[in-house]
Amino acid sequence: RAAAVARRSYATKVASFTGQKNDKGHYTVPIIEGDGIGPEISEAVKEIYRAAKVPIDWLPVDVTPRLINGKTSIPSETIEAINKHKIALKGPLATPVGKGHVSLNLTLRRTFNLFANVRPCKSIKGYKTPYDNVDTVLIRENTEGEYSGIEHTVVPGVVQSIKLITRGASERVCRYAFEHARNTGKSKVLVVHKATVMKLGDGLFLEAALAVAKDYPDISVHTELIDNTCLKMVTDPSPYQEYVMVMPNLYGDIMSDLCSGLIGGLGLTPSGNMGVETSIFEAVHGSAPDIAGKGVANPTALLLSSVMMLQHMGLSSHADKIENAVLTTLASGPENITRDLRGSASTKHFTEQVISRL
Ligand code: NAD
Repeated sequence: RAAAVARRSYATKVASFTGQKNDKGHYTVPIIEGDGIGPEISEAVKEIYRAAKVPIDWLPVDVTPRLINGKTSIPSETIEAINKHKIALKGPLATPVGKGHVSLNLTLRRTFNLFANVRPCKSIKGYKTPYDNVDTVLIRENTEGEYSGIEHTVVPGVVQSIKLITRGASERVCRYAFEHARNTGKSKVLVVHKATVMKLGDGLFLEAALAVAKDYPDISVHTELIDNTCLKMVTDPSPYQEYVMVMPNLYGDIMSDLCSGLIGGLGLTPSGNMGVETSIFEAVHGSAPDIAGKGVANPTALLLSSVMMLQHMGLSSHADKIENAVLTTLASGPENITRDLRGSASTKHFTEQVISRL
């Protein structure tokens, strides 16, 4: 039963996976190891997959940024590989602050039109936090809003950053949220917004959500202001178990870190960037430069992202096996969990413990 409940929380289940097996009967999965702790946590995932005999051949791909016609781009071989295999697993990528290349995370989302970012967050049984009943699913619009990258200096000391909201992108992500609710047995969608202030922008998002809701008479639609959702979530997260939440880009980015904090931190929360044909799975956290290279990073978030990926690929029994091994390791005491969770284990020790529970 635990696995079935977990499957519901980590399921993506909307866009269908159309990747093909290779002649060994395995799927090829491009992997972007990423920056900072990326290579350490990617290695942990690969070791666990080898031990669990998951029928996947990893294909390391390079995302070193290139400027093509003044625009940040990733190497064309990488784009071709991800388009061909319809899937990728991604470690964190560092972004320079205030200057330098456009965020590669944004570039990937735009290149593959990964319009919905699914971020489940679930209390870990056996790991004590102030609440033990967090079980949220947040769907973040992934292509526009404040992350459109449209910024300019009007006059010295005055900058405009444009928040772009379109009916098309809003309807698409809201439809994804309703489909997700239907496919995972939830009967409520909560649209989170601030249309009291951003009357036109968030107003359009809300209007699009309410229009889409008419096509889902079996799902009830609810609305809430983002500040109110934050307050209520940290006061008592349990009512949010019933909903799939959907919201514009920046709110989803912030709100999902807030939810991560409720269950023990960023080391634990996975995500899936879902497109029409292609999907990229990655941890919610960044490259953690403060602990990179020290062998203490927590690979759980990337592992659970890979579990979401396996479920999306229809490899549910492998997904369940790895997820159960990760969750039971997390519940097995401070000597087996990493420092971010107040434990003492190295990445290597944690990885060995997961393998011993497969
Ligand atoms: P961060 O998520 O990298 O780190 C925040 C804190 O959480 C740090 O103290 C870090 O040590 C800790 N932490 C994060 N993941 C952990 C893990 N797996 N195990 C143990 N501790 C962990 O956020 P940041 O410091 O704000 O950002 C660092 C860089 O990452 C920036 O360049 C940022 O742009 C980038 N970033 C990338 C992504 C992505 O690739 N999707 C997401 C967020 C941030």
